[in-house]
Amino acid sequence: MINLELPKKLRASANQAHQVAAEIFRPASRKYDLAEHEYPIELDTMAAMVEGLSDSGGDVSGATGGRKTEGEKDEHATELLGNSNGGNMSALMNALETSWGDVGLMLSIPYQGLGNAAIAAVATDEQLERFGKVWAAMAITEPSFGSDSAAVTTTATLDGDEWVLNGTKIFVTAGSRATHIVVWASVDKSLGRAAIKSFVVPRDAKGLTVSRLEHKLGIKASDTAEIRFEDCRIPKDNILGSPEVNVEKGFAGVMQTFDNTRPLVAAMAVGVGRAALEELRKVLTDAGIEISYDKPANNQHAAAAEFLRMEADFESAYLLSLRAAWMADNKKPNSLEASMSKAKAGRMGTDVTLKAVELAGATGYSQRTLLEKWGRDSKILDIFEGTQQIQQLIVARRVLNLSSDKLK
Ligand SMILES: Cc1cc2nc3c(=O)[nH]c(=O)nc-3n(C[C@H](O)[C@H](O)[C@H](O)COP(=O)(O)OP(=O)(O)OC[C@H]3O[C@@H](n4cnc5c(N)ncnc54)[C@H](O)[C@@H]3O)c2cc1C
Repeated sequence: MINLELPKKLRASANQAHQVAAEIFRPASRKYDLAEHEYPIELDTMAAMVEGLSDSGGDVSGATGGRKTEGEKDEHATELLGNSNGGNMSALMNALETSWGDVGLMLSIPYQGLGNAAIAAVATDEQLERFGKVWAAMAITEPSFGSDSAAVTTTATLDGDEWVLNGTKIFVTAGSRATHIVVWASVDKSLGRAAIKSFVVPRDAKGLTVSRLEHKLGIKASDTAEIRFEDCRIPKDNILGSPEVNVEKGFAGVMQTFDNTRPLVAAMAVGVGRAALEELRKVLTDAGIEISYDKPANNQHAAAAEFLRMEADFESAYLLSLRAAWMADNKKPNSLEASMSKAKAGRMGTDVTLKAVELAGATGYSQRTLLEKWGRDSKILDIFEGTQQIQQLIVARRVLNLSSDKLK
């Protein structure tokens, strides 16, 4: 029988994340929405908490994606998730709960960058030891491309014991605050996408410059940076995965990181969607509208019927994201499910938050509640880590068994 209850360990860490969201993020949410680029001092408290917890063996941040280095035991491994460490599920629950508080601040939590999930997905045990506790942003996008990740022009050239990086990355979330950046670069442009590898670059490396910060529609508490690499040198063993270029395998290696990060972004959309549904329920209840689970939707107030539809949409996005993370934890190939979860949750997030603004009327559109903010914040979750259209393309390719040459 399927048991959808969270295991004890996850319940505790989800509760902890929820507390952070309710007590630290929500009270600061509007302040940083109105003060873009101001450093949220609350992050210092977060950093101390995350460090304290990781020293005591906890993993509230999900920074390692829950992966343990060799020799480390995970006594919770078989609790409910069956046969694995549950790290992806734990990171997912944390992302969901903290995004319920504030997506922009969630994206700024120290040691919990998208680069951390990338490291967890492909790092060797030795690298996990070195990079397990850094705060890593993820830099793929360049001025010349966004969706077409195979079009990377940044180069990495081996020179003795060092890689030398050259190129420009744009729209790097947490790019000016993270301690490290995971950078996608080509080791040999003549070999096409197979030569694209990811590299862990310390932000204070010589030759790395944060050249500008973006102004945005939403998630204003999150810094979005342009980063330039000019003869930026990093140690040879900062390459993630194998340095070999395997033309047969294409760039499956680096793409694997999306299998871990897309369910996380889906969970962020689920978190903000839940926030909007809770607020909307209050608004409707205050207006005397009853939402009943006993009566058919067509016998209820139109707003209640709409609420029930949105809630069902929310539940399916939540379950799809859980499935994708569970598969990642259990070493089952999950590219299809990761994209399904991101496509469904990304669309649900924007639909639910904007519909909540609509149903709440002037209250929703004004700054009396956070509804209008969530409407703006949620849009990015349907854009970064692959847009809605790109997720649908991936799902179609996998379901129809067509290669990227055949279905573009
Ligand atoms: C706030 C913010 C934070 C970001 N953070 C990061 C980050 O941390 N790291 C990082 O590397 N990048 C980041 N990005 C970049 C983001 O991943 C890209 O914006 C995204 O991949 C889309 O790329 P693009 O903007 O160039 O759009 P384009 O690729 O030009 O796409 C434009 C439109 O065309 C559609 N489209 C493109 N190709 C196809 C196709 N084959 N079929 C159908 N439709 C298609 C897209 O879905 C989209 O609607 C961030 C962006 C923003 C705005």
